[in-house]
Amino acid sequence: MLKISKGNKKNFSALRIHFKGNVQGVGFRPLLFKIAKRLKLKGWITNTASGVLTEVEGNPRNIQKLITNLKYLLPHHARIEKITKEKIKKRNFDNLSIISKKDKKKAATDIPPDLTICPDCLEELLDKSDRRYNYPFINCTNCGPRFTITKEVPYDRVNTTMASFKMCENCQKEYETFTDRRFHAQPNACPICGPKISLLSRSMEITADEKTALDKTINLLKKGKIVAVKSLGGYHICCDALNINAVQVLRKRKNRPHKPFAVMVKDIKTAKKYAHLNKEEEKLLKSVERPIVLLKKKKLVPDNIAPRNAYIGIMLPYTPLHYLLFSFKKSDFEMLVMTSGNRTDEPICRSESELKEKLFHIADYFLVHNRKIHNRCDDSILFNFNAKSDGNIFIRKSRGFVPYKIHINALKSKTYPNILATGVELKNTFCLTRNGNAYVSQYVGDMDNHESLVFYKESQGHFQKYLDIKPSIIVHDLHPNYMTTIYAKKLKEKNKNLKMFAVQHHHAHIASVIAENNIDKPLIGFAFDGTGLGLDGKIWGGESFLYSGGNFKRLSHFDNFLLPGGDIATKEIWRLGVSVLTKIDISKLPEHYKKYPALDVVKMIKNKINSIECSSVGRIFDAVASILDIKQEVSFEAQAAIEMESIALDIPVKKGYNFNIFYNENTECFIISLKEIIKGILRDKENGINSKIISAKFHLSIVEIIVYLAKKFRKKYKINDIAISGGVFQNRIILSSTIEKLRKSHFNVYWNKVVPPNDGGISLGQAYLASKRQG
Ligand code: ZN
Ligand code: ZN
Ligand code: FE
Repeated sequence: MLKISKGNKKNFSALRIHFKGNVQGVGFRPLLFKIAKRLKLKGWITNTASGVLTEVEGNPRNIQKLITNLKYLLPHHARIEKITKEKIKKRNFDNLSIISKKDKKKAATDIPPDLTICPDCLEELLDKSDRRYNYPFINCTNCGPRFTITKEVPYDRVNTTMASFKMCENCQKEYETFTDRRFHAQPNACPICGPKISLLSRSMEITADEKTALDKTINLLKKGKIVAVKSLGGYHICCDALNINAVQVLRKRKNRPHKPFAVMVKDIKTAKKYAHLNKEEEKLLKSVERPIVLLKKKKLVPDNIAPRNAYIGIMLPYTPLHYLLFSFKKSDFEMLVMTSGNRTDEPICRSESELKEKLFHIADYFLVHNRKIHNRCDDSILFNFNAKSDGNIFIRKSRGFVPYKIHINALKSKTYPNILATGVELKNTFCLTRNGNAYVSQYVGDMDNHESLVFYKESQGHFQKYLDIKPSIIVHDLHPNYMTTIYAKKLKEKNKNLKMFAVQHHHAHIASVIAENNIDKPLIGFAFDGTGLGLDGKIWGGESFLYSGGNFKRLSHFDNFLLPGGDIATKEIWRLGVSVLTKIDISKLPEHYKKYPALDVVKMIKNKINSIECSSVGRIFDAVASILDIKQEVSFEAQAAIEMESIALDIPVKKGYNFNIFYNENTECFIISLKEIIKGILRDKENGINSKIISAKFHLSIVEIIVYLAKKFRKKYKINDIAISGGVFQNRIILSSTIEKLRKSHFNVYWNKVVPPNDGGISLGQAYLASKRQG
């Protein structure tokens, strides 16, 4: 800290100040400039790789005021984390300027996430007299693309994909005028000098230029055509959501019979017309991050948008181009399907060169533009479960939020080695650490194809460049066949000095909660999800653990049952129904299994042929859905569980099914038997009880099991802190009643609020455990 004694006031008339934090691409430098100018200070301001640096001279009192005023007026998205001040010699500058210095010393600052169009720009966009009227790339210091166009740090135009556009005289003037709201807006552009849109046909020929492309696109969409639209972090596939035929064609072409499509609605009023939303959900929808928010849908929503699902994923327009799709000329859309432009499971397309190969069988036309996307970034997905701000849960954290960092106390030593956590297989992210912070990547997706691996490696390269690090510790999952494990091992082969750790999947789930909450004490963790390789070589997914100092002891799990046929059982979930039923003594299988070769599967199970043992709650949900004949086959992960949740919503039940828990001396684990629960379900079914009620009772049973075990462990270990994580906690009934009931029994409950509870949060947990185990 700077000390100023009365004697050296003179020296203090010149100061070098370094600001660190979220200070680039958020209007920080322009504000600093404006205040300094008003205070009649002279000198310069620049972006550096690690923040914003300024040298100012003038009246000492005014220099003091500069910092106070700045803190007071800080732009909405800016955040100062550290201010370093240094007295310097006065150099008698004759003016104040913003300069861009090529910074050789790379020390990484925070690149801002992309920002949705601001109200001022939106007003200009729709103002006939404005020179940017209907211009799809309008932006200012408060809004526009950031992360997706940034190639290098610091965030200056030359380091973005806007570098290839030379500003026209008017734009340049705005950029240089400190009173202008585009003063140093890096992606500043106008119809004369900036990027342009055009419409391509399937043969990749331009069928409309920037003047007619929008008009034509809207007409095509109105006719029920499917258009791929280049957005901020990649392509969307777009069609009129209220045109049932168009949506059906899209389902066919995308080979996506049931999985819900996200929609973009015209405005918040339309969102309310089609979905119920609380204050918190409304806030999320309108937030600058503009995520997709999963909302309880109203009856008006056509069935084929989110079939047999109580929720609909809605977002508001976030780029000027999106706004124009809803407002240009005769456009009167209320709701457009906006789903990721990709081939099944592959990463979202970002460049025109990918279209022909990857999207041409899906879209009829392509609305493209010539501003390059450097970082792919899918839309983020969230829901809120309690109408409070601590109830926002990420399903996917990507565009609008990435990059972000999580401070981890365990990593706070500056010299701590950098870690790369490679994540897992599905919904994957990776995580890098530097100087006490963990940086989780954007959503990469499912790692079972070559394209995803390419994206994964590319993004890792980008992050390492921004952060200026080379990891010396690498962490991977226990599963030997995951692409991310193989990748980690290859890195180790190339560099023998790398330290390598394997971390168990569900340990990492719990560690993700510990990391983001900076918990430094023993706790009990419940990790419920679909799949993850356990320490005993079996599939886990219904575990509880005692955590202490970076280590885990498994305390309980659901009784193992077989997955007959292995992976195929996750699609043909009738196999799981049959498998779970073989655990109880029933004379014959329910009627609805007649359609399937169920007896062959029974044989498979009895002889343990091609069947692997598992304790996954996700799979138990599948089994119960099958036993109730709600679903026998699924086309996407968690489809049956979503339907089970959807029918059970708002069905009040007082008590779940009875359950049995016994202790296994050999494994020192409590085993939760499925027998009583399944018997109870069958009894209710025979008695003609509605599936909705059975599903609600089943949900409650899972929650009651958690509370029962938590109490048991509290008694034994004197621990009152509970962490919950894993995909099952994306089920709102399970999540909200688990928290509610545990709290009622006076437990402290921790859950994921920063990273998703699903496998997208695992890389953070891996990095955290590596840091604990290394230290
Ligand atoms: Zn703006
Ligand atoms: Zn211009
Ligand atoms: Fe998982």
